[in-house]
Amino acid sequence: MKKLVIGIDIGGTRTKIGLVDLTLGKVLETVIYPTESKNVTNFEQKIGETIQYFQTKITENQIILGVGIGVSSFVFEDGTVDSTYGFMDFMEDYPLAEIIEKAYNLPCKIDNDARLVALGEALYGQGKGFERVLVLTLGTGLGLGFVGNQKLNEKLPFGHMGGHISITQNGEKCYCGKIGCLESFVSATGILKAAQKLNWHEKNLNLPFTVESIFYASESGNNEAKLIINDFLEYLKIGISNYINLYAPDRIILGGGVAKGLKIYLPILQEITQLGPFKAYKTSIEISELEENSGILGSAALFNNIIKIPPLGVKVL
Ligand SMILES: [Zn+2]
Repeated sequence: MKKLVIGIDIGGTRTKIGLVDLTLGKVLETVIYPTESKNVTNFEQKIGETIQYFQTKITENQIILGVGIGVSSFVFEDGTVDSTYGFMDFMEDYPLAEIIEKAYNLPCKIDNDARLVALGEALYGQGKGFERVLVLTLGTGLGLGFVGNQKLNEKLPFGHMGGHISITQNGEKCYCGKIGCLESFVSATGILKAAQKLNWHEKNLNLPFTVESIFYASESGNNEAKLIINDFLEYLKIGISNYINLYAPDRIILGGGVAKGLKIYLPILQEITQLGPFKAYKTSIEISELEENSGILGSAALFNNIIKIPPLGVKVL
């Protein structure tokens, strides 16, 4: 009997749901739709429709073991979502796991989305074979997840606000209450805000006002875009060097929409001049190749204790 898990990644913009074969580390099929952030009935209905769709799709020799979900919040052990601080108003002490379990008769496990992206990368992506994997998700915000020896470092996602380390007192006040949070400089929101300050969009009306086009313009020699990207890279370097002091990762992976433009800047980000945690310390930085699938795979991997994953290098037929 082939054991499958449904992995759900509820993102700021889109919800990605995949049917996952954890033994192979493969997403067999994916459904993506805009995240329903206002109406709880629609939210539950959309997830339910997809679960039922996958339940009808599986063959006689396949079984769905459960549903793993990633949410941008602190999540309690029983699968209750603490709060998304206004991003999804109904997610205040919201018993999401219980709702799914009762409605679809499937076990449900939930954790913080950035932690699960890190778990996905460590098990199936660029973190495979590394002991200490740190994943920074540069999207609407800055998500942080750390995986040591292929396991999440804590039972609960206590570090999920790790993008809110303050790196300057000259920055703006963040929604978390502090000044100059790293997230407010290296997220898509932060990059667009920096561009707005320079009236970049008004001066470049031929280009869409997106992070991708600012990266593109910078590479094409647009001076103001270059300034925005250079500042962004400097802040990201400060952030990475702080995280190195905290986590000593041997592999750092940058994921999320913003990371897609970062490949050519990797040599700049690798310029680490500070003292390492130990003399022979070495790390490497890579861009996620799993992209959308890292969150889906990580969410499904919450059921890893049920499925025996073969050791690295062993081929599964
Ligand atoms: Zn903050």
